[in-house]
Parts: sequence; structure tokens; C-alpha cells
Amino acid sequence: MWVQGRTIPGRLVYMQKEKEAIPIATNDKRQPQAKAPGQPHASKRRGSKKKRTPGSVAKSIFLNLGKFIVIMCCVGVMIGSVAAVLLSQYVVNATANDADLLNLDQIKLSYTTRFLAQDHDTGEWVEYTRLYSDQQRTWVDWGEIPEDLVNAFIATEDQSFWTHMGFNPTRTAAAAVNMVVSKITGGTFGLFDTMQGASTIDQQLIKNITGDNETDPLRKIREVFRAIGLRNRYSPEQIMEAYLNTISLTGQLAGVEAGANQYFNKHVSDLNLAECASIAAITKNPTKYNPATNPEEHILRRNTVLRFMYEQGMITEEEKNEWQAYPLVLAEEQEQETVTHTSNNSWFTDAALDQIIPLVQEKEGFETSAEAYNFLNTQGFVVRLTVDPFMQQEMEKVMLNSDGTFYPRPIQVEDADGVFQDGETPVLDENGNQVYSSNNLPLKTITTNGAMITLDHSNGQVKAVVGGLGEKKADRISNRALQPHQSGSTMKPIGAYSLGIEYRVTHYSDMWQDEPLKQIPDEEHPGQMKDWPQNYGRAKYGQMQVYMALGRSLNTIPVQIANLVGIDNIFTFMHDTLNMSSLVTSAEDASHNDEDFSPLVLGNLTNGVTPLEMAGAYQMFGNGGVYHTPTFFTTIEYPNGEIYMQAESTDVQALTTETATVMNRLLRNPVAASFGTAAGSGISSIGGMEIIGKTGTTQDWKDYMFMGVSPYYVTAVWYGYDEPHSMGGNLNAQNSKVPQIAYKNYATAVLTGKEHKDFPYDSDVVSQRFCTETGDLAGPNCPGTEVGYYLADNVPALCSAHN
Ligand SMILES: [Zn+2]
Repeated sequence: MWVQGRTIPGRLVYMQKEKEAIPIATNDKRQPQAKAPGQPHASKRRGSKKKRTPGSVAKSIFLNLGKFIVIMCCVGVMIGSVAAVLLSQYVVNATANDADLLNLDQIKLSYTTRFLAQDHDTGEWVEYTRLYSDQQRTWVDWGEIPEDLVNAFIATEDQSFWTHMGFNPTRTAAAAVNMVVSKITGGTFGLFDTMQGASTIDQQLIKNITGDNETDPLRKIREVFRAIGLRNRYSPEQIMEAYLNTISLTGQLAGVEAGANQYFNKHVSDLNLAECASIAAITKNPTKYNPATNPEEHILRRNTVLRFMYEQGMITEEEKNEWQAYPLVLAEEQEQETVTHTSNNSWFTDAALDQIIPLVQEKEGFETSAEAYNFLNTQGFVVRLTVDPFMQQEMEKVMLNSDGTFYPRPIQVEDADGVFQDGETPVLDENGNQVYSSNNLPLKTITTNGAMITLDHSNGQVKAVVGGLGEKKADRISNRALQPHQSGSTMKPIGAYSLGIEYRVTHYSDMWQDEPLKQIPDEEHPGQMKDWPQNYGRAKYGQMQVYMALGRSLNTIPVQIANLVGIDNIFTFMHDTLNMSSLVTSAEDASHNDEDFSPLVLGNLTNGVTPLEMAGAYQMFGNGGVYHTPTFFTTIEYPNGEIYMQAESTDVQALTTETATVMNRLLRNPVAASFGTAAGSGISSIGGMEIIGKTGTTQDWKDYMFMGVSPYYVTAVWYGYDEPHSMGGNLNAQNSKVPQIAYKNYATAVLTGKEHKDFPYDSDVVSQRFCTETGDLAGPNCPGTEVGYYLADNVPALCSAHN
């Protein structure tokens, strides 16, 4: 039965008819070999057709015997043919999907999903990172694999690898007979050695790829046909490359490169002869020959491999003897740790995953994000990230805080839940006991933290992000650039001033009375009322023009402007147009929401807004009024280059280009004017380019924010404690500079040497000198003048006070 089954490869008449369905028959390269096993049968049949000769009884007996033999042969051939046809049909069905299943190119690509980024200088796509899955494996190409390693496997596993047709007929037949005999005798008797060794490297590869580990005889048949098909489609080198990259080693290791890293802390191409033999030894039985746990067994097996190599003429006797004496030198335990444990993703990679994984989860209908993550990482996707590796690196340098720009500012506070988060340490007395507060809560020490994020405001692409100070210790930890914080005065330009200009409620040099909007109950003095809002330090200025009110960050004037624009308009603009979804709507929470002046103008928010949202909103000040959805990637591609997913980006003209131009000029004042809140920080010009921006400080100095916009990028910097605590009034002047200094250090590295660029300027905007006393257009008699920027239909009149 089995022997007849082997004639099937020769029965190409049937198989070629069906060749669309049988990938293994489409290539006739193997026909001569495949036909070979059928030939002895053909010659037997020819022998049986010899003409009879007249003769004796004996002859008659022989004649009858001959008849019998002929009949039996015919019957045998018929049964064999039927069996062969049935078997052919089975094989056709069982291997129908093999073209996909056994696509070695696909296997290589689907190994690891790669994340690419465009090089800062050349714009070329380069590999930025790979994620590490549970199984440690790294593909190495044929050219990197040492010949000794290939030979070690051939000597041990498959001596006729270079010449056979995918399976070994003699050994397969022997194994089959052995199996039948063993079954008949109840497993007590075997004719030949064992089933072991019957598998060629091709067959082992197929087992690794397909996971087809059924123990029935049909599996063996499927495997043989698949092996033949594999040899038809791929060269022995390709098959060996795939095999060496998929073999199982100890633990979660797979492939010779991962093995070389793990055991010897080497690249596979640097392995010596003994180490090559070691890898081949482990594969035979990863538990028994584990070099770490069973070094003696391992060395015995390794030396057997070397002996096999010598016996097959692959190495000389001297080499055999020399390397058999070579000690087993395993990588240091600590070095093993670094290669076997997942390496840390950059803050950018984590943030990109935060954006990508929910999209994959939704697209594939996965129940958990873990499934989506695993799927993403094992499809051999190419993910094109928006990160600029150089900018990311420069931002990471600044946020490492090795120069103490951000201070640590340790303070002791009560810990409500008794759980100490990352960056929190319990306060202990000299005996090492927890110290409690007067409220009987454990005390802990907390330190300041920070975050920074940069967008390219021409397209919304995130170029760099860092979500915390100091070294990043783990993957997928919370990223402060993506978490809400109080934004303080950085909110003022987004809603109040922008829409004030757009709605013609005010203009660049418009004069406003510095006065509160309303009276509210004074919590410090029950029963009394107080002014709201009040300026920083309760300062009162009498009258002030818009450009100066913005530069000095007054509270009163933008609230009055917002009052004329309308809360609904501002909220809709920020929440819907600018996609600031951290803002809480009244529908979400009727009593604690952000639909009011204090959150929308002064940045005293219910939950806060994220630095990412802030950077997203500030794009319009640098690019002529457009909001682009911030994105961390552009496309995710299948290994064949087809698009799996594209980042959805909406581009909205949030402000007219005229208003955006006026706002751009207004935002020069905080950084460039002598009265600006960021004056003296040295950031009005970086790399020869103009910088605009806005500072933000929240109530009781709990958070500091800075928004910096260059002609290329918008960057948000946040600085504060993870849980809001005052950073100290007497330290305010120092603290307020922290985000600006960090921005300056980072932006200087990024912008220096970059091609000069100016902000866009809408030529419909009217640029005229105005009177600094009245805010109206300057005449010849005005005592002091400055340049202002106006919408063409909202230019102030000539100053009548002096002219
Ligand atoms: Zn004047």
C-alpha cells in the first residue's frame, strides 16, 4: 500500500489535469525523479507479459502459477490504481492551500512588524523600531549564516539535504514499513531503526510552519507531498534559511540568531565551529541538551555533532579535535537578561501604539487590546511612523533632565490610597517605619515631572513626544503628554482672542478697561463678594490694549472678550473644531463641566487638556489657521506593500488665514516684547527663525505650561507634579521659566541649521502703525507708535486724541 502510494508522484497524468489545484504539480522540474519509483513496477509488468511456451505438467503448474501471478498482478495494479487515485484526491484536498501556507517569503516578512521613520536629514525611510513578542526571534538572511552552522545541521539532521527531493524515499519507506509492523505487533517489534531520522530538513520546516503534528499516517503523506512541493518552488538555500530561522530552541527562543544572542551573546555570523555545533545540538532536544541547565549532556551532544561533521568530510580531524576540547562559554547571566527581556519602547513608539491598537482592535473586531497588539506585532506589517528620530532623540535628551533644568522639587504629601506609584517614595523614620500625617495618612515624597510633544503644523504629524522626566523604565506606561493637565493661560489665545478677532469683537491694538466681568462669593470671607476674574497678583492696570493684555497674560480682558464672543461659540470651537475632547460637556456632567469662562479662557479645567490637544490647537497659529488631526503614523502596510490601514486625518480651516495671521503676530508679544511673560528667555528667535508662543501658570502654581511655535513645528511643554500640588509661590519665578528653558534647549537643537522659513502671512491683513496711548491708527502727532495687524474690515480709526 505504502509502496504503491509512492508511485503517485509518477502519476502526473492525473495530477497535471488538475494542476491549478495542485501547486506541487505545476512545476515539472521534478518529473524525472518523481517517475523513478514507478519504473520497477513497469518492468515487472513487462516481465509478466512473457509469452507462454508449451510444456509438461510442471509447465502447466507453472503456467497456472504464471496465470495466477498475472491475475494477481493485474488485481494488484487495479487496487493500487484505485488507491492511488483516492490518495491523489486526498492529497489534492489536503495540500490545496499550501501555496499560501508554505510561502517562505511571506514567512520571513511576517516575522516581525517593523516600524519605519523618515530620516531627519535625507528623508529616507529607515527602521525606527521593532516590538518584541513573547517568542524571541530575529530573522537572519542566508548570507549571514555561517557555513559551519549549515553543515552542523546537515550532518546531524539530513545528510543528503543538498541532493534529495524534499523527502528521503528509502528512509520514509523504512519508517512506513516499520510503523506497519510495529502496529501489527503491538509496538513490540520494529523491522528498521526507528521513525526518528525519517524527516528531512524540508519536512521539519513544514512541521514548524504548518504546526501539523497529527500522528496519523496521513500526516506523513501530506508532509511528503508538501516537501516535494517546497523543493519545486524553492532552492535548497531558501529552504535551509527558513529552517534555521524557525527552529525551536530552549524557552521562547526560535531561530539561530536568537539562539546565538541568547547563548553566546553573539551575532550568528560570529559563531565559532563549536558554537555552531552547540546550536545544532540543542535543536535535537532543547530540554535534554540545554547548555545552561545540562552543560555536560550538552557538550557530549555537541561533540557528537562535531564527529558527524568530521565523518562527512565537512571538517578535518584536527578541527574536530580542537573544537571538541573547546570549553562551553555561555553568555553572562546578566547579558542574557538584556537580550531575553523586552527592551523599552521609546515614548514615541508607545504613543503610536496607543493610537494604532484601538484602530486595529476595531477593524479586526478583537475583544481585547492585547489581542490587537499581538495581531499587529505578528503580521509582518510595515508601520510608517511620523516620528523624526533626530527630534525624538533631542527631546529625550532634554527630558532626561540630567542637567536639572526641571529640578526634582521633592515635597512630602499625604498618600490617600496607600499605594506608591512610580516616582513616589514613602516617608520613613530612622527606624524605617512609615511616617503618618496628622490625618493619620501615610506620607510620601513626590517630585516634579514633565512632558513635551512636537507636531509638524503643516500636516499634524507628531514628530517627537516624551511623557516623563528621567529614564523611561518600562513599556506602555502612562504618558504625561497624552494625559490631561491644567493648561492655565495657554488657553486664552485659543478661544477668547482668536474668535474675538474673527468675530470683529476686538482687534490687535483695541483698548480695553481692565475690570472684572462679575462679582462672585468670596470663599475666604463668607458673606462677602469679590471681583472675578482678577489678574495675577491682583494687579490692576486701568486700561490696556489687546496685544499687551495677551503679552502680559491679563485675566480680565480676555474674559470680557469671551463674554462678547459667547461661551457656546468658544466651547464648540474648542471641543468640536479643534477636537479638544478632554473638555467636559454639560451633557456629560451638568454640574462639573468646562462650558464656562474659567475653564475656557483661564484654563481652570474640570479634568484638564492634554499637551497633545494643546499642540493640536496651536497648529493654526503657525500654519495659517488650519487644524490637522494629530497623528503618530501615516500607513500600516502588508508585507506585500498593500495598505492595511491609513491614518485618518481631517484638515479643517479653523480660523481664516487673515485671523490666523493676526493671531500669529499677537503671539509674538509673550516671547518677544519687553513686557511679555516669557521675555528674557531668549526664545524670541531660535536658529534664526521667529518663535511665537504663550506661557501658562495655574492656580497656586500647580502646573506650568509653555506653547512654542516655530515656522515648522508646534511644541507643548508641561511641568508639574503628577497629582496637583503647589510648587511654591517663592519658587514661582524659577518654576515659570522651566518649560521655556526646556523648550529653548530642545528647539535650538532641532531648528539650528534647518533651512530658514517664515510664518505664512496673509497679504489681505493690514499692517499699520498705531498709537500706543489710544490703540487707534497713529497720526503724525501721536507720541508713541507700534506696528499692528488688522483684518481689512476691522482697522481702527485715526487717533483723534493727538491728531
Ligand atoms: Zn495717538
